[in-house]
Amino acid sequence: MNRRQFTALSSATLLPPLAAAYEPASVVDAMPGTLPVLFTVPHDGAEFLGLFPHRTQGTTVRDLGTRALAERVAALLHQQLGHRPYLVVAKFSRKHLDANRSEADAMESPAMLPAYRAYHDHVAAYVAQIRKAFPSGALLIDVHGQSQEPGTTFRGTRAGLTVKRLLGRFGPAALQGPDSIFGQLAAKGYAVNPAADAASMREDPRFAGGYTVFTYGSHRPDGIDAIQFEFGGQHRSNPRLPEDFAAALVGFMKAFDLLPK
Ligand SMILES: [Zn+2]
Repeated sequence: MNRRQFTALSSATLLPPLAAAYEPASVVDAMPGTLPVLFTVPHDGAEFLGLFPHRTQGTTVRDLGTRALAERVAALLHQQLGHRPYLVVAKFSRKHLDANRSEADAMESPAMLPAYRAYHDHVAAYVAQIRKAFPSGALLIDVHGQSQEPGTTFRGTRAGLTVKRLLGRFGPAALQGPDSIFGQLAAKGYAVNPAADAASMREDPRFAGGYTVFTYGSHRPDGIDAIQFEFGGQHRSNPRLPEDFAAALVGFMKAFDLLPK
């Protein structure tokens, strides 16, 4: 018997029933907001949901600093606008569960399903609330970190698909022009990909937009505009990033009519 089989066997025989291993509501932090903006943070959790075997397929590394970034930007928006974005944060480790994948691909143990559903039930409920409260437009920002190109922040919208509504109203300038979020970050010296003056909307296939933006994006009848941000490691460790990201968001919301009247 190898170590893995032994772990699986002891989990099955020695632990209390699976449902008692963790409380699904406690493994996700969710806070409703008053702005038409929702931050989702799937990959910065550190909690283990019982002694279940770790995932053996797919990426299991943590997107360090993305939770702190989203929370800091939320606090800055609150200070500057008197309104808060919505926030959904996974507290569970990606070693157990990847919330940015489909249910079938997210986990290798069915015991992770309640945690997965707790995360996506919050996201789906907030998207529905936001659509109702802000019929003129709204944005989901899926916050990630990558270390393959630490000096670059990548955009993922499946080449514009998941922001179909934004593009329909304002054209490509809303995604990569000078008033777009990425355009404003680029103007502050952050290398972004695609470049702010790119002729096409093609995105790097490694970061072109995962399950969350594809599930909740505005190409769906019940979705909202959705962009995946993959912040490079150097950008995440830049102490000015939260201020710069918040300023870029405020500029974007002003330019594209998302500030509450
Ligand atoms: Zn990630």
